[in-house]
Amino acid sequence: MLLLSALLFSPFVSAGLIPQLHGHDHSHISSKRLPSTWYQRSDHPVHNLFRRGPATDGIAYAEVGSPTWSAAYPQSTPDSKAMAAEWLDALNAAVTAGSIPDIPVSTNLPGENPTYPPGFDPNGDVVCSATYKCRNPGDIWDAPDGMVGISFDDGPQPASDDLYDFLQSNNETATHFMIGVNILQYPTEFLKAFNMGGDIAAHTWTHPYTTTLSNEDVVAQLGWSLELIHNSTGGRVTKFWRPPFGDSDNRVRAIASEVFGLTTVIWNQDTEDWSLTTGGTTSQAINTSMTGWITGPKSPGLIILEHELSNLSVAAFKAAYPVMKSNNWNTGSLAQIVEGTSAYQNAPSSSGPVTPADVILAATKSNASVSVSGSGSPSGSGSSLGSSNTQQSSQTGSPSSSGSLASAAPSTSAQPSSASSSVRRMGSAALLCLVASLVASAV
Ligand SMILES: [Zn+2]
Repeated sequence: MLLLSALLFSPFVSAGLIPQLHGHDHSHISSKRLPSTWYQRSDHPVHNLFRRGPATDGIAYAEVGSPTWSAAYPQSTPDSKAMAAEWLDALNAAVTAGSIPDIPVSTNLPGENPTYPPGFDPNGDVVCSATYKCRNPGDIWDAPDGMVGISFDDGPQPASDDLYDFLQSNNETATHFMIGVNILQYPTEFLKAFNMGGDIAAHTWTHPYTTTLSNEDVVAQLGWSLELIHNSTGGRVTKFWRPPFGDSDNRVRAIASEVFGLTTVIWNQDTEDWSLTTGGTTSQAINTSMTGWITGPKSPGLIILEHELSNLSVAAFKAAYPVMKSNNWNTGSLAQIVEGTSAYQNAPSSSGPVTPADVILAATKSNASVSVSGSGSPSGSGSSLGSSNTQQSSQTGSPSSSGSLASAAPSTSAQPSSASSSVRRMGSAALLCLVASLVASAV
């Protein structure tokens, strides 16, 4: 009734089209017609009366957070032999077309920078490893001048709640590079990020060094991530992904682009905030770094590696944000700042219309659901939703150990800083991660 009253008494409705009201003695026979366009500003309170959820592609998906929803996905490292045939077909087609560089898979010990066989220079044009700070021009490293692209890795997490409240209170939008298994574990936080208009982006399924994976395993890591985001956001296909540890090369980025239409995003400054809880850095050190970047030159713009991983890392951002504003940086999510467009390949935003699309961009289909051969038998032990042990056990920084959820292992710090210094840091980083794992296990 409030809505009806608001409609009828709107000063913008032509009085000639509305019958006179006579107390309770009114007729419902009238010639009134509603205007062809909405006639209250979008910030008018009347909109709250019938606010709806984000638009979808029309397909009914399992409720986010429900057992049915969770059971449809691998609970740990995905088995590339049990993934959608369409994904494999798309990969094979790209390989046949010569679109995927034939670069050997890298190898590494846990926590160490991946290395390539002799003859394959990680900084050369053939490999161009982001771990070694080689920049493929198709990837995003910098924000436009004067802009800060706000992004956070490794969510959703319990610490995300406070971050999201802060972003909302500042009318700020960020890009959230989320880990698939973390979405399964923290669906409430996931929905909060999406419903507040945050960019939902991919950070793989279990946080491996992707250059160490076979083509098929890269596809599985990305495919499941996109599928979960797709089926949990009304059918949206995310546009951005960030490789864990910043570890990508020309092979991996080509798979991401050719099979899934993804743009690879790295960063140009690193807070190392992942190590706040392990003693690797301090809030003061981050504040000093942040202040230097924020008060420094505005060209190029900033993409700062930050994590929604702990209360400390969130606090570090909250402390830096007002400084960004007072130094007149333009801020926004990567979609807003870097691309000036949507975070999704088939929708203008979190709330706009969705064009039905498969997660395989090149094979746009009307039905986005993917039939997975062997589904229900994800590799690794299944952990039920809400179980936290699996995640905590992930912090060993061992991306290759199947069954471990590398989720919280932003850890290792394969920052694309200079290779030598990065490698030097790696030993202590791995040790810190191990300590963190032991602490987490003990709690
Ligand atoms: Zn990460």
